Amino acid sequence: MARDSTEIAIIGGGVIGLATAMRLAAEGREVTLVEPNEPGSGASYGNAGTIADYAVIPVGTPAVLRNLPSLLFKRDSPLSIRRSALPALMPWLLRFAWQSLPQNAEKNAAAIAALLMDSLSGWRELASQIGADDLLKQNGCLYLYTSKLEFASASADIGLRRQHGIAQEFMTADEVAALEPKLPPFEGGGVLFPNAVNLTDPGAMMKRLAKAAAAAGVRFITARTERIERGERQVHVKGAALDLLAKTIVIAAGAHSRMLAAQAGDHIALDTERGYHVEFDMQTPPLSRPVCPTARGFYLVPMAGRLRVAGTVELGGLTAPLNPRRIELLERGAQAIFPTLGKPDRTWLGFRPSVPDSVPVIRASRGGSNIILAFGHGHLGLTLAPVTARMVSAIIDGRPNALSHRK
Ligand SMILES: Cc1cc2nc3c(=O)[nH]c(=O)nc-3n(C[C@H](O)[C@H](O)[C@H](O)COP(=O)(O)OP(=O)(O)OC[C@H]3O[C@@H](n4cnc5c(N)ncnc54)[C@H](O)[C@@H]3O)c2cc1C
Repeated sequence: MARDSTEIAIIGGGVIGLATAMRLAAEGREVTLVEPNEPGSGASYGNAGTIADYAVIPVGTPAVLRNLPSLLFKRDSPLSIRRSALPALMPWLLRFAWQSLPQNAEKNAAAIAALLMDSLSGWRELASQIGADDLLKQNGCLYLYTSKLEFASASADIGLRRQHGIAQEFMTADEVAALEPKLPPFEGGGVLFPNAVNLTDPGAMMKRLAKAAAAAGVRFITARTERIERGERQVHVKGAALDLLAKTIVIAAGAHSRMLAAQAGDHIALDTERGYHVEFDMQTPPLSRPVCPTARGFYLVPMAGRLRVAGTVELGGLTAPLNPRRIELLERGAQAIFPTLGKPDRTWLGFRPSVPDSVPVIRASRGGSNIILAFGHGHLGLTLAPVTARMVSAIIDGRPNALSHRK
């Protein structure tokens, strides 16, 4: 196999790797992207498609910590754990518990809010650059509460969002019914995030992004990176069908980044929150915006030719197969809201790259800035892809990077 070389090698072609490749190539750099599968076919394909500029609340909060035992072990909970994975998950869970304490959760919310600030403008700019304006829809996003009590239990989150200047409009049950008339009654009303944007087809967006990156000069290598070795002047990227020297590499392999980062000397508590979706094909979905019945832990999202029901969290690592009970949970949950839905036309499992504090790792490796870490975006990778790309570009240029979060 002939040895290859490049200025920048990006490891992983999810939304983070693709958006970063696009940005760096548009800035005139020589970029090679290494990805074993079809670009954009991992978590970046199957998500709920929301550019969630409002989502400042980390996964770990005092309320989640308080309810963790019932959330983890109750049947039909939106959060579940595969018992066989518990021992391996313990270190991550302990860190997660620590990050859920009040002061830590507030600090993490502030870090996430800073990253989210330019998420919408970043996506508008990127979509227009790659000719994908048609795949962005601005119609807000709606959180729903089944009872006044449920709404009241969200008060800490609402307060934290207010503190960070997030636009949120409170709606009575009647106002929700007027806005989305096909929904059943939600007695606790709702919160509308009016600025939120969503993708009408995340898979199609990934394809456009990959195509635009290729047109901008990004070279794609279909291979899995198995080893990275830092040399004096270059980083050696190796795999069964891969022998590449790069001046700089960016680790953007989503939930699979932990081993690669460890090879660079960065030991990050990265694990995965497994998430699922089911899709129901239909010409006209019964909603005009993404809607989240908060207690169920999923979004119902109108997408091109279908209704996608995406979300929930299963802690259980990267190798266990799809859990049919989690699919049933989504299916029954969707049918409880829209009783005429039949069997889903498609089901899917994907791996969120998750760190205990919910703040993505976007920084130079501790061993030097010729290796850059860009992973751990958890529930917000789609939203934060253009912001991440901008930060990676700043790190490569040696420009100050106030948003980079040390851990
Ligand atoms: C159900 C669900 C709903 C979600 N909803 C939203 C949402 O509404 N809004 C939002 O912002 N986010 C959402 N997310 C989160 C979002 O999808 C992820 O944070 C994001 O896709 C992560 O992007 P990524 O590029 O880091 O990872 P991925 O998309 O997983 O891409 C990583 C890539 O790296 C490749 N790779 C792995 N190992 C190697 C290797 N050794 N060498 C080379 N390449 C490798 C993989 O093949 C993969 O293509 C959701 C996630 C799920 C599961």
